[in-house]
Amino acid sequence: MFRRVLIANRGEIALRIMRACQELGIETVCVYSEADRDAPYLRLADRAICIGPGPARDSYLNISRIISAAEIADVDAIHPGYGFLAERADFSEVCRDCKIEFIGPSPEAMRRLGDKVEAKRFARAAKVPVFPGSEGAIEVEEEAVEVAAEIGYPVIIKAAAGGGGRGMRVCHNEATLRTNIKKAQQEALAAFGDGSVFVEKFLESARHVEVQVIGDKHGHAIHLFERDCSMQRRHQKVIEEAPAPEVDRKKMTAVCEAAARLVKSAEYAGAATVEFLMDNKQNFYMLEVNTRVQVEHPVTEMITGVDILKTSIRVAAGEPLPVKQKDITIRGHAIECRINAEDPTRNFMPSAGRIDTWELPGGPGVRIDSHVVPGYFVPPNYDSMIGKLIVHADSRAEAIERTARALREFRVGPINTTIDLQLRLMQDSAFKTGGIDIHYLERLLK
Ligand code: ADP
Repeated sequence: MFRRVLIANRGEIALRIMRACQELGIETVCVYSEADRDAPYLRLADRAICIGPGPARDSYLNISRIISAAEIADVDAIHPGYGFLAERADFSEVCRDCKIEFIGPSPEAMRRLGDKVEAKRFARAAKVPVFPGSEGAIEVEEEAVEVAAEIGYPVIIKAAAGGGGRGMRVCHNEATLRTNIKKAQQEALAAFGDGSVFVEKFLESARHVEVQVIGDKHGHAIHLFERDCSMQRRHQKVIEEAPAPEVDRKKMTAVCEAAARLVKSAEYAGAATVEFLMDNKQNFYMLEVNTRVQVEHPVTEMITGVDILKTSIRVAAGEPLPVKQKDITIRGHAIECRINAEDPTRNFMPSAGRIDTWELPGGPGVRIDSHVVPGYFVPPNYDSMIGKLIVHADSRAEAIERTARALREFRVGPINTTIDLQLRLMQDSAFKTGGIDIHYLERLLK
C-alpha cells in the first residue's frame, strides 16, 4: 500500500480522498491555491502545500507545480479527484515518468476510453449498446451525409475529444448538416486541439443512466450497478439516484455487465463510469466513458456498501479487487442532491462569500459530503458546488421523504443555495413517479 498520497484537487472531493487515505493508514499531502489558503480541510492533511494563485491554470491545472509539490513531499502516488487534471492522459503520463503512481487509469487506457470515437469502437467490440452513427471520425462532408441518410434525422455532430457539453451541433436535415460539419471540425480543433468529429443519432427525449465500474491491474473488472442522473440543467447534474427507477432489471443488469466488459477489454484499472442515454422503450445508447471517480459516486456506495474511493486507491497500489461481482447486490435506494452556492431565482448566479449559518441535517440514512464549516468563505474562482446531501432508505419513496426531511433541516446563509429548489423537486409529482427525461428540469424552470 502507498505510504503517502498527494491530493491534486480541492473542496469536497479533496476531503473525501483524504478520509479514504486516512482509513487506509496513508499519509496525505494536500495542495492548495491562494484562494483556498484558509480552507478548513487543509488542517486535516498531514501536510499542505501552496501551489500558486487562485486561477486554476496557475495552480490546480498546473502540472509542473503539482509535480514539484509531489517531489518535495516525497509521495508515492497522486489522486486527481474529478475535474482539473483527472482526465488528462498527459498528466497520468508525467506521473508515470516521475515514478509517481497516478490513482486512475494508465495514459493508454485513459486514451482508449476517453476519446469518444475510440471508446465507441471498444464498446461495439464488447457488445455495449451504442448510438447508430459513423464508425470513426468523419473525413469528408459526404460521409456525414451518407451516415445521416442511413440512420435518419435528427443527428448530432460531436467532437471525439469533446467534453463539458461543448462542441455539439444538432442537425435536423441535410442542409444544416452540410453547413455544420466544417464548422464543427474547426471548432473542435480550436477548443480541444483535435478536429475529429463524428455523427450519431440524436435522441429528442431520454433519461441519463450511467454504470459504475472498477477495474484492477490483474485483468478483472466489476460493475456496481447504475445511477439515474436525468435531473439536469445545462448538462449539469442536479440530482442523482441509485438504482435507476422503473427500469427493466434484467435489461439493466445486462447493460451493467457489458459496461464491465468494456472496461476490462480496455485493460483499464481504476474507477470509471460508462454513461448511457435510455429512450422511452428502455433502449440504451452509450454516450461516453468518464475515466475518473464522479461527483455522484456516493449513491453507489450507499446501495452497494462498496467504498469506491478506497477501492480505487487499493487497485492503484496493485491489489486485486477486494470484492467479487456475485457478492455485490443492491440494498435499498439512495439519492444525492448537489448543494450549490447559486441563486436559482436569479438564473443560478453564483453566490460566493462567507457562510455564517451552516446547520446540517442528520438522523438515520443521512450523509453529508462537504468541506464547508461555519465561517467558510466560498471563493469565486471555482465550481459552485459546496456540498452533497446523500440519503439512503429501504425504498425510493422513503428515500424521497427522507431527503425532503433532511433538506428542511439543512440551513445555510447568508449566501444563496439550491436547497429550496431541491426541496421543491423532492415534492414534484413527475420526479416522484420516476422516469423524468433530461430536459425535464429546464422545462420546469421556464
Ligand atoms: P460531454 O463530454 O461534452 O459532456 P456527452 O457525449 O456526454 O458530451 O454529451 C453531453 C450531453 O449532450 C448529454 O448528456 C446529452 O444531454 C446530450 N447528448 C449527447 N449526445 C446525444 C445524443 N446522441 N442524443 C441526444 N442527446 C445527446
